[in-house]
Amino acid sequence: MQNSPHSRSLIPKVINILFPSECPSCGKETDNFKTAPFCSSCWSGIEKYAGPSCRICATPFNSDDAGTCSECIKNPPYFSKAMSFGLYDGMLASALHFFKFHRVKRLHRPLGDLLLDFDFAGIDAVMPVPLTMKGLRERGFNQSLLLAKKVSDKKKIPLIMDGLIKKTETAPQIGLSGKERRLNLKNSFGAAGTFPGMKLLLVDDVMTTGSTANECSKELHRAGAKEITVLTLARANYL
Ligand SMILES: [Zn+2]
Ligand SMILES: [Zn+2]
Repeated sequence: MQNSPHSRSLIPKVINILFPSECPSCGKETDNFKTAPFCSSCWSGIEKYAGPSCRICATPFNSDDAGTCSECIKNPPYFSKAMSFGLYDGMLASALHFFKFHRVKRLHRPLGDLLLDFDFAGIDAVMPVPLTMKGLRERGFNQSLLLAKKVSDKKKIPLIMDGLIKKTETAPQIGLSGKERRLNLKNSFGAAGTFPGMKLLLVDDVMTTGSTANECSKELHRAGAKEITVLTLARANYL
């Protein structure tokens, strides 16, 4: 049915009734149900970052020397490794913006697909970075949970939905320095339960300095976890 001329002409029309008719990126007509409101041509511009990066926190390097960044040497993080699909830039940044701030919840599906192309060997459970109750009420969904669920479903790794809680509302991290970000988040997360000897995959949408991932990982270690790997869609410089 998918290849019949009839369905080809009908589906985009139906989509354009249900969703904005113009791709927010190029202004052309949306042609893809899965990535709507973005068109398939713009969506295909999302690229996996393949350049050099820190072997621990995945911060991109300008040069080709693979190794560990100075921040990870100075303050080794509580997570053992971070993996990120792309840079917070261009089409990936637009898609994340629509997902989170325009609350286009359905974009978690194509965005979640991007997270499947990593090695998850040895991971015992997947866990999302939590929002506060207030944050959850405001957005209506936890974007990290939707992404974590996708990885859990597709890779058949158990999901621990509420293994972490965000105890206190913190000021937005935007505009803060690395040190300010760490102080802002200090003690704002807590583990709910214990995870003795477990290797956990902590999922978030964007990683900037890694303060959030680090605070969460600290709590998970305190709760007995053996090893934390962080998985995010996009790696941002300071926002
Ligand atoms: Zn487009
Ligand atoms: Zn690093």
